[in-house]
Amino acid sequence: MNFELDRVFIEEEFRGSRIARTVLEHLPAGVPVDYVGDGRAAARPDSSHPDPFAAGKRRLILMRRRSPFLMACPAASSEFACCGYLVLTLASNCPMDCSYCFLQDYVADNPGFQVYANYADAFGELEALSARAPGRHFRVGTGELADSLAFDRLTGLSLELVDFFARQTGLTLELKTKTDEIDNLLTVDPRGCAIVSWTLSPPAVFASSEHRTAPPAARIEAARRLSEAGYGVAFHLDPVIAYAGAERDYLELLDHLFAAVAARRISFISIGGLRLTPGLRAAARRRHPRDPMLTGEEVLAADGRYRTFTPLRARLLRTVANRIRRQSAQIPVYLCMESAAMSERIFGVRPPAPANLCEILGARR
Ligand code: SF4
Repeated sequence: MNFELDRVFIEEEFRGSRIARTVLEHLPAGVPVDYVGDGRAAARPDSSHPDPFAAGKRRLILMRRRSPFLMACPAASSEFACCGYLVLTLASNCPMDCSYCFLQDYVADNPGFQVYANYADAFGELEALSARAPGRHFRVGTGELADSLAFDRLTGLSLELVDFFARQTGLTLELKTKTDEIDNLLTVDPRGCAIVSWTLSPPAVFASSEHRTAPPAARIEAARRLSEAGYGVAFHLDPVIAYAGAERDYLELLDHLFAAVAARRISFISIGGLRLTPGLRAAARRRHPRDPMLTGEEVLAADGRYRTFTPLRARLLRTVANRIRRQSAQIPVYLCMESAAMSERIFGVRPPAPANLCEILGARR
């Protein structure tokens, strides 16, 4: 566990619950624990702190989720070439700190590191979904508002998740991470129902921008081990960042990946260029003023996000896509949060509709 906690808050109703007991058992000595009626107050920003968002990451709150767990992927619109998967929100915020992370803006008013202790309700929502759509296949990811595995050593949640999905038909779990926290996963058999995906960046981006994450080589090694243990593995080259030497670095990263993990074991690779809403760009530059990855050549795109100058971005995305294709035409590759026009420019064809893509990705797990 590559992060520290200042304090833990546990809502009274979860005192004695399985997850609270596991957290208390694994918590480093000396971290104070408070029991509160309602954890939402502890999740609010501490305005006396010079960086309230960073302070929120260091406050773990075990609390009830008061809204549904299951949502459509925020990228799922006709505007984007996207994967059309479903998001299961089991936690909010993340103990790591990537300079480009959208959470800096998205959860700025609510930055406490929240883990939802009534996660069993999520299983009920998933069962209801399956019952409403018999015969359909759904890919369900937990890594949208938090890294899926960053806190797994504290909570052991992955064990229950994999066990649940292994008993379902038509549901694939996708855990998304920048860690090498795989010890729990190695103890359970996913029975073909779980994919673990890693966001991969070259060492230069890791060093400048992905604070407290596992180094890229450690992520690739974790992927190799899990693929040999029967998990599907997948990768997100997202964000792809344009900087001097980026093409060489991304190609070396892919060489490293393909030397470690056989192409036939890779469920898919997604690619997406760096994009920042104006709010995120301001927050990121304020919090990480010396990060060179945040000051590339960019334009305000039609979707209201700052993106790398289009010809530069297209060239880099094409270089990455071509390298993957050269390794194996069988690996599904798609663009995430890029327009259908960009997808056509890179691959020469319009992207499949999200529902179809979901089926394609689900079929290769
Ligand atoms: S690992 Fe993911 S969720 Fe965590 S800070 Fe980095 S980008 Fe954000």
